[in-house]
Amino acid sequence: MTDILEFDRQHLWHPYTSMVDPLPCYEAVSAEGVMIRLRDGRELIDGMSSWWCAIHGYNHPELNRALVDQTRKMSHVMFGGITHAPAVELAQQLIDLTPPSLDRVFFADSGSVAMEVALKMVMQYWFANDRPEKHRLLTIAGGYHGDTFGAMSVCDPVTGMHEKFVNVLPKHLFAPRPSSRFGEELNDDDRNNLTKLVETHHNELAALVLEPIVQGAGGMWFYSSEYLRLARQLCNEFDLLLVFDEIATGFGRTGEMFAVDYVNIEPDVLCVGKALTGGTMTLAACLANERIATGISADGGALMHGPTFMANPLACSVAKKSIELLEVSDWRSCVSKINAQLQQDLRPLGNLSGVHDVRVIGAIGVVQMDAPVNVVQLQKRFVEEGVWIRPFNDLIYLMPPYITQPEELSMLVSAIESVVT
Ligand SMILES: *Cc1c(COP(=O)(O)O)cnc(C)c1O
Repeated sequence: MTDILEFDRQHLWHPYTSMVDPLPCYEAVSAEGVMIRLRDGRELIDGMSSWWCAIHGYNHPELNRALVDQTRKMSHVMFGGITHAPAVELAQQLIDLTPPSLDRVFFADSGSVAMEVALKMVMQYWFANDRPEKHRLLTIAGGYHGDTFGAMSVCDPVTGMHEKFVNVLPKHLFAPRPSSRFGEELNDDDRNNLTKLVETHHNELAALVLEPIVQGAGGMWFYSSEYLRLARQLCNEFDLLLVFDEIATGFGRTGEMFAVDYVNIEPDVLCVGKALTGGTMTLAACLANERIATGISADGGALMHGPTFMANPLACSVAKKSIELLEVSDWRSCVSKINAQLQQDLRPLGNLSGVHDVRVIGAIGVVQMDAPVNVVQLQKRFVEEGVWIRPFNDLIYLMPPYITQPEELSMLVSAIESVVT
């Protein structure tokens, strides 16, 4: 039999990994609840939800059943000229969950593709409305929106993992990362920085693009919700569209169903992904309002996107079940219990030397170190401690499945404590 790890090392790329000198890998054979089981029999408590996705835990019987039931009916059928109940019913759920004005749905294959579609929406909007010069984007430093070219162009130029492409990407505008933290009022610097950029450049700007409140892979930073209010106000005043990337924040992770629910505003386009199928498979969506939907076609044209696997019925069926599970699971109290425990147990690590900052929002806990960590070494120690935590740069963070029990969360926190002391 092939040695899995050896073959993998020789032939498979992993995310952001060198083929010449790859980081070591662990072989998983199964996963159940909050546990990932390795080939050698070790079981690890998962602190990552497989990158924000597995909110209900792994191998969930109801998600599995939704998938299997749908395979018996129709695994896939083209979405060009054909529709089906899984797509329609999921769209209905998404329309009901998101802010009221967002009632048009585009299904995409992944978060990055959803961002591409969102950017096409705002570009096409101005093109169709005889303002083709409004084709640049404004965003904030420290963002991450995916790995495709359009998405990369709004990622942080330095920490967004795409600095090697600066010469081929369109040059968009970046406001400094808001320094006002979540829970704080917006300070004058943040207000003035954004306002000035919009005032100066609105004639060439199509949209303002933000990860609301929680910036994920660009640095795990949580900023003041008042920034979103300012964003909406400036977009109204200077005629910009507002795009929210809730691919990481959606479905309860921040303590609200969507981060936008912390404020009483609505974006023009909102992207969801990651936890949409509860971690079972890839699916994302862009929701847009009436203005966008009709504006794109003001010149008689159509939205120019249509992936092969658009609205895949298996993915839509699982997503629909995942949302139903959320609704019956009292996710709000699960997330708030995780939050309370992280506030209590993780925050004190902020006093340790080498720790720069500890921050917590919803079911997300972040320990930021003074310097980048040795990922290989830490990963190995975490596995020895019986947990799965994958740091990046100077960040060691937790975003566990919502079903995580207090003793399991304690083990995750203790593991972090033991590697940082
Ligand atoms: C992960 C992520 C994306 C990209 O999603 P993929 O499914 O990996 O393409 C986009 N935006 C945010 C905020 C993300 O966290």
